[in-house]
Amino acid sequence: ETHVFTSINPATGTPGARYPELTKDEVEQRVARAHDAFLAWRETDYATRTDLLEKIAEQFDANAERLAEIATREMGKTLKSSLAEVQKCAGGFRHYAQNGPAMLESRTFDTAAGKATARWLPMGPVLAVMPWNFPYWQVVRFLAPTIMAGNVGLLKHASLTQGVAAAIEEMVIAAGAPAGVFQNLAIKSDKVADLIADDRIVAVTLTGSEGAGMQVAEAAGRALKKVVLELGGSDPFIVMPSADIDRAAETAVKARIQNTGQSCICAKRMIVHADVYDDFLAKFSAGMKAVTAGDPMDGATDMGPLSSEEQRQTVVDQLAQIQAAGGKLLFGGEALAGKGAYMSAGILVDVPIDDPVAQEELFGPVAMVFKADDIDAAIRLANDVPFGLGSSVWTNDPHERERFERDVAAGMTAVNAMLASAPEAPFGGIKRSGHGRELGPYGLHEFMNLKTVFG
Ligand code: NDP
Repeated sequence: ETHVFTSINPATGTPGARYPELTKDEVEQRVARAHDAFLAWRETDYATRTDLLEKIAEQFDANAERLAEIATREMGKTLKSSLAEVQKCAGGFRHYAQNGPAMLESRTFDTAAGKATARWLPMGPVLAVMPWNFPYWQVVRFLAPTIMAGNVGLLKHASLTQGVAAAIEEMVIAAGAPAGVFQNLAIKSDKVADLIADDRIVAVTLTGSEGAGMQVAEAAGRALKKVVLELGGSDPFIVMPSADIDRAAETAVKARIQNTGQSCICAKRMIVHADVYDDFLAKFSAGMKAVTAGDPMDGATDMGPLSSEEQRQTVVDQLAQIQAAGGKLLFGGEALAGKGAYMSAGILVDVPIDDPVAQEELFGPVAMVFKADDIDAAIRLANDVPFGLGSSVWTNDPHERERFERDVAAGMTAVNAMLASAPEAPFGGIKRSGHGRELGPYGLHEFMNLKTVFG
């Protein structure tokens, strides 16, 4: 019997569109098509690729409102943030259209054997396994460089966001992409390992949880295929006495509640120097209390529901376990009664950082606040989790800044700002946040063959 994915609006609990899972034969047809498409796409010149990227960007712009509504109905982010995400995607395609060719310039080296030239060549069909939290942008981070590289893409999107997945495929086709350059595979995750093992697929990229990352990396390891993993985070947000505390507190609220707390680079642990702890906590608390969850379709709403009732239950359970371990919930963090997967914004203090649950990613609008006596203690706390994705540090002292840049174990550090991804800059983590980089020239190079030609 065929499985059917059903979109459920997390703001109302109402079921929406249904998407039947592809049959085995349909998956096989698509993989074969990807293979064939690659043989032609790899030979295209850069102008053909950048032209397609520009045309996809135009489709995203022209259909922005409709695309945004699909995402909001499927995973509950506010309509204004969905719209911003769709526009960011158009910018992502344009970034590679405009800058991709320069990133693929060859380099030459003088060797004892004469001249050597390193040139970037495509590798083949790349499989992407993507999550629901930024359902367009996560896909575009892989898709734009895939097209620029001369590779082709296959997408296994999250079960929650099959409507978004279908819409992305629709945009690419409407832009005039040759058949097979990008295809959506409406499949459950139990079909992913066989795809990774398939000789026609050359690499896999995953954004999601550690658990999914381990399984995909294991399958990729068995098949000796390259994998890029962008997994969870428990990003520190460090506030030092030299910082602008008002701005830090205001930004901390945004950084924690963005996407209802469901971003891998949300600031999740506020680590505050003892000298400014009370001041920061008072301001941060006032800001978090002022956040109200509401209808994501309403332009005035800053925080919608969580992506599903299950996701909300996961967070509620984590909060209960942290409290059982000694953490204190100052306020919020409660499932709201009535329809929809809504939850109030909240703050935890006195969290024992070595407790197993405190070491997990908290994918909801509740912040942990810690007190640190000095910069060493702050950095120790920041690094005392298995993750190493992003970080945000607040200081106006150049020595402290240097310490944070050098010593906070993370793939990214924002200074006196909220961390956000940008198409131009590499994005990714260390430790259990994964490996490899997306975006910028590094993201483009991940799945390419850097061939050295002697002579
Ligand atoms: P998952 O990691 O399970 O989902 C991400 C993607 O991986 C989905 O496409 C999913 O498919 C797929 N997937 C899941 N398991 C496997 C597997 N064994 N093999 C291959 N693919 C797999 O995230 P969840 O939605 O379950 O969220 C759980 C937690 O993960 C969150 O609370 C959060 O902590 C973290 N997360 C982090 C994200 C980030 O951006 N860093 C994004 C999303 C989640 P399917 O949906 O069909 O299961």
